[in-house]
Amino acid sequence: MTPSILDSVTTLKGVGKASAEQLQKLGIETIEQLINTFPYRHEDFRLKNLAETPHNERVTIEGRVESEPSVLFLGRNKSRLQIRLLAGNHLVKAVFFNQHYLKDRLAIGMIVTVTGKWDRGRQVINVSNFNEGPKTDQADFEPVYSLKNVMYQKTFRKYMRQALDLCKDEIVEVLPPSLREAYVLPSIGEALEMVHFPKSPNDVKQARRRFVYEELLKFQLKMIGMKKIRKENEKGIPIHYDLERLKEFIASLPFELTNAQKKVVNELCSELKSPMRMNRLLQGDVGSGKTVVAAIALFAAITGGFQGALMAPTEILAEQHADSLSSWLAPFGVEVAFLSGSTKGKARRIIIEKLQSGEIDLLIGTHALIQPDVGFAKLGLVITDEQHRFGVEQRRVLREKGLNPDVLFMTATPIPRTLAITAFGEMDVSILDEMPAGRKKVETYWLKEDSLLPVLRKMEKELQAGRQSYVICPLIEESDKLDVQNAVDVHAQLTHHFAGRYTVGLMHGRLHPDEKDAIMRDFSEGKIDCLVSTTVVEVGVNVPNATFMLIYDATRFGLAQLHQLRGRVGRGADQSYCVLLADPKNEEGKERMQSMTETNDGFLLAEKDLELRGAGDFFGKKQSGMPEFKMADLVHDYRALETARQDAEKMLASDDFWTSPEYKFLREDLEQSGALSHERMD
Ligand code: ADP
Ligand code: MG
Repeated sequence: MTPSILDSVTTLKGVGKASAEQLQKLGIETIEQLINTFPYRHEDFRLKNLAETPHNERVTIEGRVESEPSVLFLGRNKSRLQIRLLAGNHLVKAVFFNQHYLKDRLAIGMIVTVTGKWDRGRQVINVSNFNEGPKTDQADFEPVYSLKNVMYQKTFRKYMRQALDLCKDEIVEVLPPSLREAYVLPSIGEALEMVHFPKSPNDVKQARRRFVYEELLKFQLKMIGMKKIRKENEKGIPIHYDLERLKEFIASLPFELTNAQKKVVNELCSELKSPMRMNRLLQGDVGSGKTVVAAIALFAAITGGFQGALMAPTEILAEQHADSLSSWLAPFGVEVAFLSGSTKGKARRIIIEKLQSGEIDLLIGTHALIQPDVGFAKLGLVITDEQHRFGVEQRRVLREKGLNPDVLFMTATPIPRTLAITAFGEMDVSILDEMPAGRKKVETYWLKEDSLLPVLRKMEKELQAGRQSYVICPLIEESDKLDVQNAVDVHAQLTHHFAGRYTVGLMHGRLHPDEKDAIMRDFSEGKIDCLVSTTVVEVGVNVPNATFMLIYDATRFGLAQLHQLRGRVGRGADQSYCVLLADPKNEEGKERMQSMTETNDGFLLAEKDLELRGAGDFFGKKQSGMPEFKMADLVHDYRALETARQDAEKMLASDDFWTSPEYKFLREDLEQSGALSHERMD
C-alpha cells in the first residue's frame, strides 16, 4: 500500500502514539498538514569569521577547546558552563547556560562547532547550538519551526524528511507551467524541499517567492471572482431617481460641490440606476466631504421611491449625521428617523412600525440598525460611515437587509492600496481626492511633554478669538504601566487653569449616551470652549469652529488615528493648529511624529503607517476583516500582490481559465472557496 498525503502522520516511521499526540498539539494530523507547516525562520550555520561579525549577531564557528570546562551552579536548575575556544586565531569564551551535563563531553584539544549570539565587546559566544567535531557533517541552513516546546526540532525534521520523500510525486501542482516559467518559480515539490531543507538562503527566498505568489493569486482569484459573479448574477434593483429634484437639492446646499464630489455623485447615481447591485467603497480623506455625498445618494434613492439607511459607528456621529441630514433633507419632504441602542420601548416600536409601513424614508443610527427586528418596507440604499469599524459579518448582515439593497461603505481614513485591494478587494472603489476650496492646512507641531505652558498660551489665544479647542487624552483610567494622562485629571487641571474665563468640558466613553450627547451638543453650540476628551471624538465629529487640538501622549496613537483625530479641526475657514505632545522612545515613534508635522495628506500618512507598523496594526483591532496570510506580508510583498491581482483579472476574463486543463487546480480551489456561489436573499 502506498502512503498518501492524506494519511495520518502515524504512517511515518517512528511516529507512535506519543509523537502523534505531540504533533496534534501543533495542529498536525495528516502528512499533508505536516509538509505544509512552514518554518518561521532559518538558522544560518555557515562558518563566519569572528573579526567580521557585528556585535549581537548570531554566528557559527568551529574551534578547538583550550581550557577545562568550568561549571558554576546558579541555584535551582540553573548553571553556567564555560570554556575557551580557539577559532582561527581568535581566542574566545563560549558560555553554555543550563547545560552543565556537557562538561563530560568536552575535553582540551577537541574540535567543536558552536552557534550563538556574539558579544563582541566581551569576546563571548552565548551558545545555543553545540556539535562535537568539525562543521563538515552539519547542514548550512536549518529551518526553525514553531514547536511550542512539544518536540525537538531534530525529531520534527526527521519526520519531515520522511514525509517529503514518501509524497514527493503525489503533491498537486496548482500553478500552470506557463506562469511558473514566466516568473521563474520553483515547482511545488522543489519549493517544499527548498523551504524545509534549504541549501542556501537563496533556496529559502525562491521557495518563499513561490508560496507568496500562490497564496496571493488564489486570494485575488477569490476576491475578483466574487465581484465578477456578483455582477453577472445578482439582480439588484434599478432605482429611477428624480433627476430634477436631485438637482434642486444639490442647488439648495450651502456650498458648491467639489469636482471630486460631483464625479463620485455621478458614479453613485449611475450605479443606482443600473440593475446591478452596488457594493462600493468610498475613500476620502478626513474633511473631504463624504457626508454630503451620502446625503445626495440617499436622497436620490428616496426620490426613486425607496428607503435609505445610514449607519455610523458611534452614537455621537450618528446623531450628528441625523442633525445635518434632516436639516438638509426635511425641506424636501424627507421623513428622517434616528435609531440607536438608547432608543427604547415605545419610541423604538413606533420607529420600527413606521419603517415597515414605509412612512420613514431615511433611518440614521448606530449598530441598532442591523438588529433582526428592524425591517424596512422598501430599502434601496444602505450607507455605512467610517466603515473599517465594521467587521465582515456585519457587512454581510447589512447587505441582507431588504431586497438586495445597494451598499456603500465610507472609510474613516484613506487605506493604502495594498490593504484596500486585500480587505475590500471584492468591491468597487470611488475616491474623493480633493478638499473643499478654502481649506487651510492644519499647522502641526510636535513638542516635548514638558512644554505644556506655552501650548496652553497658544490655545488661549484661539479661545480669546471666540474659537474652540479639543484636548485629547489616550485613556480614561490611570495606568502606571502605560503612563498615560488621565482625562479626568487633565480636565481638572484645565478647569482650574481657565477658571472664570473659559468653560472646560469632559467627554469619555464611560459616560451615559445622554450625557455624551448633551456635552457634544454644548460643544457644537459653543457653550463649552475647550473639550477634554478620549478618542471618542475620533471619528467624524464636525464642529467647524474648533481650531485648536492638543494631543497628549501622541506616540500612543498610530498615524492613521492621529490624522483622523487631527481631522476634527481645520473644518472651517479659519487657520487651525494641532499640537502633539510626545517623548517617543524609539525611532519609529519619532518618525511618526515627524510625518504628522510634515503632511496633511491622509493617503501619504496611511502608506507611512503601514510601512512603519505593518498590516496587522493598521486597522487597529482584529475586527478589521483583514485576511491572515500564511506566507505573504502585505508590506514587503506588495509587488507580488499587484502582479497576482493583474494575473487574476486576466485569468478570470479569459475562456482558457474556465476550460483549459492547465488551470484545473486553480479552478477547483476557487470553486471550493465558495466565492463563485452567490448568496441568495430569497
Ligand atoms: P468627511 O469626509 O471627513 O466625513 P464631512 O462630510 O464631515 O467630511 O465634511 C466636512 C465639512 O466640510 C463639513 O462641515 C461639510 O459641511 C463641509 N463641506 C462638505 N463639502 C463641501 C464643499 N463642497 N464645500 C465646502 N464645504 C464642504
Ligand atoms: Mg465623515
